[in-house]
Amino acid sequence: MKINAQRLSLHFREMSLIGKIGETGTCRPAHSGAEKQAFELAASWMHDAGMQTRIDNFGNLIGRLEGSKPKLPVLMLGSHLDSQPYGGRFDGVAGVLCAIEAITTLTENGMKPERSIEIVSFADEEGWRFNKGLFGSRGILGRLEEGELLRTDQDGVTREQALIDFGCDPSRFSESLYAPGSIYCFLELHIEQGPVLDRSDKPIGIVTGIAGPLWLIIKLKGMAGHTGSVPMHLRQDALLGAAEIITGLNKIVTQIAGAPTVGTVATIDVFPASRNIIAEEVVFTLDLRDIDLERRNAYEQQLKDLIAATAKKHQLAYQVSEDTNSAPRYCAPWIKAIIGEECAALGLDAPELMSGPFHDALALSYACDYGMIFIRCKDGISHNPLEYSSDEDLALGTEILYGTVLKVLNK
Ligand SMILES: [Zn+2]
Repeated sequence: MKINAQRLSLHFREMSLIGKIGETGTCRPAHSGAEKQAFELAASWMHDAGMQTRIDNFGNLIGRLEGSKPKLPVLMLGSHLDSQPYGGRFDGVAGVLCAIEAITTLTENGMKPERSIEIVSFADEEGWRFNKGLFGSRGILGRLEEGELLRTDQDGVTREQALIDFGCDPSRFSESLYAPGSIYCFLELHIEQGPVLDRSDKPIGIVTGIAGPLWLIIKLKGMAGHTGSVPMHLRQDALLGAAEIITGLNKIVTQIAGAPTVGTVATIDVFPASRNIIAEEVVFTLDLRDIDLERRNAYEQQLKDLIAATAKKHQLAYQVSEDTNSAPRYCAPWIKAIIGEECAALGLDAPELMSGPFHDALALSYACDYGMIFIRCKDGISHNPLEYSSDEDLALGTEILYGTVLKVLNK
């Protein structure tokens, strides 16, 4: 191996002490003192790699290795050091620490790239504190939405105040923007957060893209009545209709065996929610994801046909409204090809897989080509202190990231 696996695992251990909860958990909220401490530690390692560091006005930590031709669009790597309130040691951290190790290896080997390289720990990827994620990665691209600074956390602190407390100046966001064309491409290494690699006994995966979710809100309205007296054939039971749609969704998304499509209903409100009144109104949310937009659209149509047929069958009125509709964002074929070559050079059979969850790369995909490397995580557990990726797998991923960086720089 060209990278230093021992140093890498040491860095993971040191980072895990900041915001540590229990034996293996992490709590590092966005724009918090714990995140600041994590930034200071990561920045010290960036300095060792020959980088200059700064914290921008969005609360991102940015390390920069100046190239000999600094006007060239920058090669950007990174992920995030904030965590879920009851999170693990690897989500996001892997993308920052493995990038630092790759660039440290590069400078240790005396390489002086023409293109500048930046490693970013993006602010508030997780999104739980202010109920809106990918803050730093959307911020640098001018993609924040109206009113985002006024969102408050559980203690009533606004995003704006949290940024000021962190040392940022939200009135000077414009100075922290990246101009169109100024980022050459973005590379993110991340733990899979799902069980596909672990189940197939493969340490590394090549990401094909990030599936955009379609989020729907479905409302069914029937007729309340006494559960003891209304005969079955005369009922307009909204909850029975919802049950048929929920199981129908499961059939729709599993019709092609092995396809990555996922569909989920995870919240449901029933009115009036009395054990002896037939449900009159049911509202539930639906989450549909696929990397193949054409297939996702076809399934959406099947679902809407099913809702219409079910409503007719049970004499229900219905309403379907759209909450979020984001298209899948595909990784650049040329970067996927390079990652594939690097895996093959190490004798690895690395499967291609889509990412169901969001990552900072999703925001970056609107500004430049991007590629992602997935690391196996044990039993697919994430957003949980039990989250685990082995030192060996992380080192392997870093070696591939390093090789990918060298090839991207030589393009
Ligand atoms: Zn993450």
